[in-house]
Amino acid sequence: MTYAERIIEQVKEKNANEPEFIQAVTEVLETLDPVLEKHPEYEEAGLLERLVEPERVIQFRVPWVDDQGKVQVNRGFRVEYNSAIGPYKGGLRFNPTVYLGMLKFLGFEQVFKNSLTTLPMGGGKGGSDFDPKGKSNNEIMHFCQSFMTELSRHIGPDTDVPAGDLGVGGREIGYMFGQYKRLRNEFTGVLTGKGLPFGGSLARTEATGYGLVYFTDEYLRCHDDSFEGKTVVVHGSGNVAIYAIQKATQLGGKVVACSDTKGWVYDAEGIDYKILENIYAAKRSGHDKGVSLAMYTDERPNAEYHAEDGRGVWGVPCDIALPCARENTLHLEDAQKLVANGCKIVGEGANMPTTPDATTYLMENGVAFFPGKAANAGGVATSGLEMSQNSERLSWTFEEVDSKLQGIMKNIYHAADDAAREYGLEGNYVAGANIAGFLKVANAMMAQGI
Ligand code: GLU
Repeated sequence: MTYAERIIEQVKEKNANEPEFIQAVTEVLETLDPVLEKHPEYEEAGLLERLVEPERVIQFRVPWVDDQGKVQVNRGFRVEYNSAIGPYKGGLRFNPTVYLGMLKFLGFEQVFKNSLTTLPMGGGKGGSDFDPKGKSNNEIMHFCQSFMTELSRHIGPDTDVPAGDLGVGGREIGYMFGQYKRLRNEFTGVLTGKGLPFGGSLARTEATGYGLVYFTDEYLRCHDDSFEGKTVVVHGSGNVAIYAIQKATQLGGKVVACSDTKGWVYDAEGIDYKILENIYAAKRSGHDKGVSLAMYTDERPNAEYHAEDGRGVWGVPCDIALPCARENTLHLEDAQKLVANGCKIVGEGANMPTTPDATTYLMENGVAFFPGKAANAGGVATSGLEMSQNSERLSWTFEEVDSKLQGIMKNIYHAADDAAREYGLEGNYVAGANIAGFLKVANAMMAQGI
């Protein structure tokens, strides 16, 4: 048994009720054998044992009063996973599926993702089992204020800098920032993804989707190819999906399908991201509970709406597939359909959307597979740029931020590609991203002692 295999077994034993965390740790550690063989000092320093345990886990009660005057109680969390290379950094997820194991998985992934950006950010993740769906604006505000009332004592611009994730966008960040400021009487860059008038960065909203396309574009460029004329299919229609669709279209691709939790749309003329922006805004306003992607066909009557599992998009023939919704939404049978229909690239806009057997199948069948921790790092990278602007008390233009983002995504592609080549694993971007992300964190941890 190798060092990594031994630790995977320990993690399975110790975290038996946290399948997503086990999946994420296994996926990373499995690829580290060649590095661990080359660096026996890591094992001597118990590095993996330390890496699979979050530095700190905070769990708290979030009481709030709904519009009917009834008291509701949710669970809040912050997993301060690893601070070897910078303050904890990562999003907050508000979704009924949130529990500690989910946030440990996301925090663990975030450590490597943030390391790949080359910016000084450690890894963290947090959130709540609160379901924002169908809640009024007032309820969202009260929930965010209560959540921050406790969280505020654990975070700070040099300690832990949360941002958005599923269920947490600009509005929620605004309410939480307001509460932090009220409690602490301090105006600092403690959260990212803020509104533009109070320290937010231009291009942060677009960054994850744009970054995914920039990463894919760099791969194409290095293979004498481009987005021009490529058919693209996207799973999801939220913030990541919308701007991936916009950028892929700008670069000459045609995005023909996307989805939400209730169905999916096929538009042979190419999805119009502006319609998706409007549907997304209507969904988040909480006023009209009947909003769904079905409304797309109101604007584009020639498009088809399918009221069935959004995974239907994977049956649409394409050159490039971009899963941009959430974890474990591209299964083995979807991967088989994609390969059978000639798909050549799968780029993860979400965190771990592809199941392990689907990932293996894609990679074994000649598909270039870009793992989320590399391909979707543009969001957190731009959060890092927001932190820099806040520290400088300056704000950069859209073009400045966008061009830095492009540079970062290109670097991430090459870091993953080079690491894979160095270990004789050319074209394996999963191993490449893990190794490149790991080495920086590992070396920092070694230098800082036990
Ligand atoms: N939630 C995003 C992610 O998964 C962004 C985190 C951040 O900006 O801190 O990377």
